[in-house]
Amino acid sequence: MSNDTLFQEALTHFPGGVSSPVRAFRAVGGTPKFFRKAWGSRFEDEEGRRYVDLCMSWGPLILGHAVPEIISAAVEAMQEGLTFGAPSRRELALARRIKSMVPFLDKMRFVSSGTEAVMSALRAARGYTKRERILKFDGCYHGHSDAMLVKAGSGLVTFGEPSSAGVPRGFADLTTVISLDDLEALEATFDKLGHELAAAIIEPIPANNGLLVQDTTFLRRLRELCNAYGVVLIFDEVISGFRVAPGGAAELLGITPDLVTYGKIIGGGMPVGLYGGRKDIMAVISPDGPVYQAGTLSGNPVAMAAGLATLERLTPNVYRSLDQKGAQWAAAFEKMPGLHVPRVGSLLWPLFQPGVKRADRVESGAIARFNKMHGLLLKEGVYLPPSGYEVAFLSAAHGDEELAHVERAIGVVAAALKNE
Ligand code: PMP
Repeated sequence: MSNDTLFQEALTHFPGGVSSPVRAFRAVGGTPKFFRKAWGSRFEDEEGRRYVDLCMSWGPLILGHAVPEIISAAVEAMQEGLTFGAPSRRELALARRIKSMVPFLDKMRFVSSGTEAVMSALRAARGYTKRERILKFDGCYHGHSDAMLVKAGSGLVTFGEPSSAGVPRGFADLTTVISLDDLEALEATFDKLGHELAAAIIEPIPANNGLLVQDTTFLRRLRELCNAYGVVLIFDEVISGFRVAPGGAAELLGITPDLVTYGKIIGGGMPVGLYGGRKDIMAVISPDGPVYQAGTLSGNPVAMAAGLATLERLTPNVYRSLDQKGAQWAAAFEKMPGLHVPRVGSLLWPLFQPGVKRADRVESGAIARFNKMHGLLLKEGVYLPPSGYEVAFLSAAHGDEELAHVERAIGVVAAALKNE
């Protein structure tokens, strides 16, 4: 069945025809593809067209699609029961593996999405500090809980609604937003509001308004200010966790947060999130403490098995190879005239503008050119995330053959763009 026919039906069921807005192709134009199967670094749509996937389900698939060992681990768990709603040994195995990769994580809680992880970490920080205000940074996306939908990047910036409707003013008023890469604003905000802040939350490698790589000095200063004012520093590593290094951005940058949130990779493609960190803060969580947080499917055995099978395969060699690939693929994209590709390891941001560090510096013309390039690359069998504000993801399964395919496609698209 054609993508168009499927999308026409989807429009009758779902707002915008999709289960999550960034899938809608509104920014880049055209009809979203409906996928029927995926393997390695490729997938096939319902019309039988195949693509090299550079979105990779937005990050979980660091080893590739449908990795046989991950699927077997999930199937083995499934055969023993889909969910217990009670403790199981697989939660312990995954927690042990995570602690071996992230040494500062004293205690953690599994949840079912990145959104939940962030929402819960913020509640823990508020319960611990007995303060209410949260500091976030313009362009960082932290999921769709009310407090975080203010200048939030991702689908919000894609659709030109940087702060969501439907959030009570009282909630939004408790979220202070400042720009990334602005030390002066950071100092001034702590000076004025430091004693009111429960938490400062940041993507240490901001990857939801493009890839706004920060100077380490900015993040170090944020750490110092949080210490000075007793503010809980939360690193949202839903994208960077287990991707840029075994211990995520915290390890790469040498900065330890008080709490951290993960999602995506730790579920190996199944719905999982996690928040955790210092044991004195995590002691406020129910039933040990007064901050309530719960979940019927939290620690789901199938998700735990898929996550563990993924993390067990993340060896130093995998990280070395992902970084080399990142360099090669970025160089391939930079053959497109005018395109720059800021990169951290296997996270790439193709942008028709030299790299920027702040959300408000991304030019609309650069995004318009991306949108054009997106459609042309798609015709050549290359699937980038359908928004110029989103980063591309590589996996261990992206090989030389796929790179050659993409290089050819870039040549074709560069010629087409030149002739316009
Ligand atoms: N935090 C960050 C940094 C994210 O990138 C995302 C999702 N892209 C989330 C939180 C929310 O995760 P989820 O979509 O699983 O709710």
